[in-house]
Amino acid sequence: MESALSVRDKIGVEDFVLLEDFRSEEAFMENLRKRFKEKLIYTYIGSVLVSVNPYRQLNIYGTETMEQYRGVDFYELPPHIFAISDTAYRAMRDEGRDQCVLISGESGAGKTEASKKILHYLAQCSSHKGEVDRVKDRLLQSNPVLEAFGNAKTNRNDNSSRFGKYMDIQFDFKGAPNGGHIKNYLLEKSRVIYQQKGERNFHVFYQLLQADASLLSELGLNGKASDYHYLSQGDCTEVHSINDRTDFLQVQKALQVIGFLPEEAKALWSIIAGIILLGNVRFDANPEGLAKFSESGESIATIAKLFQCPQDKLETALTNRLIEARQEKMLSPLTVEQAYYGRDASAKAVYERMFYWLVRRLNSSLENKSKSRVTLMGLLDIYGFEIFEKNSFEQFCINYCNEKLQQLFIELTLKSEQEEYLNEGIKWEPIEYFNNKIICDLVEEKHRGIIAVLDEECLRPGDVSDETFLAKLTAVVGTHAHFITHETSDYEGRKTIQRNEFRLRHYAGDVTYQIEGFVDKNNDLLYRSSKEAFSSSSNLVLSEVFPQSELASQKRPPTAGTQFKNSLSELMEILMSKEPSYVRCIKPNDNKQSGTFDEKVVRHQVKYLGLMENLRVRRAGFCYRRVFEVFLQRYKPLCPATWPIWDGELSKGVDTLMTHLKLTSTDYSLGHTKVFIRFPKTLFKLEDLLEK
Ligand code: ATP
Ligand code: MG
Repeated sequence: MESALSVRDKIGVEDFVLLEDFRSEEAFMENLRKRFKEKLIYTYIGSVLVSVNPYRQLNIYGTETMEQYRGVDFYELPPHIFAISDTAYRAMRDEGRDQCVLISGESGAGKTEASKKILHYLAQCSSHKGEVDRVKDRLLQSNPVLEAFGNAKTNRNDNSSRFGKYMDIQFDFKGAPNGGHIKNYLLEKSRVIYQQKGERNFHVFYQLLQADASLLSELGLNGKASDYHYLSQGDCTEVHSINDRTDFLQVQKALQVIGFLPEEAKALWSIIAGIILLGNVRFDANPEGLAKFSESGESIATIAKLFQCPQDKLETALTNRLIEARQEKMLSPLTVEQAYYGRDASAKAVYERMFYWLVRRLNSSLENKSKSRVTLMGLLDIYGFEIFEKNSFEQFCINYCNEKLQQLFIELTLKSEQEEYLNEGIKWEPIEYFNNKIICDLVEEKHRGIIAVLDEECLRPGDVSDETFLAKLTAVVGTHAHFITHETSDYEGRKTIQRNEFRLRHYAGDVTYQIEGFVDKNNDLLYRSSKEAFSSSSNLVLSEVFPQSELASQKRPPTAGTQFKNSLSELMEILMSKEPSYVRCIKPNDNKQSGTFDEKVVRHQVKYLGLMENLRVRRAGFCYRRVFEVFLQRYKPLCPATWPIWDGELSKGVDTLMTHLKLTSTDYSLGHTKVFIRFPKTLFKLEDLLEK
């Protein structure tokens, strides 16, 4: 038999708090690498689960494994996503405390897979009854639908989520799911009109092209994906790991299970087809240099039929814009460039609003119809920190979101540590840590944060451009320690920053943002003539998402940046009101390969997930804590007085055991319900003794 020591040597420790040198990133990496080599992808930092994407199917998610973890104390079994799920589930069911699981990590790290595993676990382990199964089916089936419309093949992940998702699952007092609610954040709608090399548009576009011939001909789709401009810019219409045909059948099935009416599905397919064909509309310049429809492009008649809106209105919308001056409305013809811009803006707006409709529709079918009391389990699967070669407005928003989550994480972890010490009556020693609030403020502060400055510039009449925005931004926050431009005098790397860039020193590292498109994307405007065309549509989705009332309203909707900021602040409130668990996902390499552990790639993620900081906070006082009962149960054979049973006071039993082993108050402390052990070596000693 292998000794505990040699096992530890081979597979590392199951909890990073048990690392002798917990400040060493080397030791951390070493432990992660060892475990990964042994296909042990999960490791704890206290109650936080660290997960490394294995990029292969592991036989650890079956029903038997689920049953094994059901109702079992957190530390009794090897680290697992089911242990996190089960602990959260029981705290919710038995103690009525709302829970949330926050899943973070970079693209391809396994967040979406993790959230699906949790959902499956909850479905499996909550009690069974007719109505419950209906809710469960709908919850489970909402995934393929959302993934079809919101995920895409990128260079990082063949199934990359291009939107943030927060899902509340509602449970009745018996712990059975009876409803759900989804919130989505910032869909990457620019993908509808453009994809980088090697990437695709959202899955659903390619899936629809695999529909039955009858549906395709009804929709006027007679080409291949490569024939359509919006689907083929990435030069990658087929992906070996994806079968669009079977996926489409699955989505159709899922829509049925969720309760979509045939005409609702039909309305969606018409819109998707309309967007596909819209991308093939072309413009030529007439003698005055203004846009007219090109003969070589797609016919507007077909598109108007698909969008179910009057052809003349759509034609007008695509070649003119409506100007209102002194109570008078005038059509002003567009240049070719403006016409393409308008076409693309329409495609993006239609897709985005359709996506919102879809989420609302899913929510109405997940709605908890009974009025019984509910407790909640929230799952947050949101885009991780992004550093690309070129970073734009989207990365800016995404990284801001990660700053907020990091802040929440640090605050809540510190808070819960502190509370535990307080509750247990153990002295709390304050911990030094980096508070990234200063960066959040830089982005979101009223009047002088980056978003406020951007808004101000977007709303200012006159010549506004990305350059004027950067100039103003530099004037307002130029001296901020985390904001850098090519002019920042006390920054050595300033030569690497171009005139049209600014750099933010995020908690996770420095990111340089290209300002091109910031103003435009923040404004997020759609020509009024386009709105008019779509709001006269009789398509049941379009007529709902382009309401006539919007045309009458003079109010400008909030900018994209401000909307995002507001939705994040709402999200933070939701999360703060719940008890959090964390899953931190890591991808082992950039090539989607199983078995390869790329030091550099992993180290980088360990850093920006703040794992060392996390470990430091958790280990500040003690490496290990257990309730007396569990502790005694395990170690009572080590002392004649506690073996085979101790029937006195539990804390006294632990004390007796420790004293017998010649351990003193420097090694451990007794709280009100738990024993706290300071150093891993003490624990290992106990383990080794047990073995003898
Ligand atoms: P994004 O931010 O791009 O949405 P993500 O973190 O959600 O990325 P996933 O889509 O969950 O990443 O995972 C990417 C791929 O990695 C999956 O499609 C799957 O092939 C593989 N993978 C992730 N987790 C696991 C796992 N636990 N077991 C096996 N394969 C996995
Ligand atoms: Mg994902």
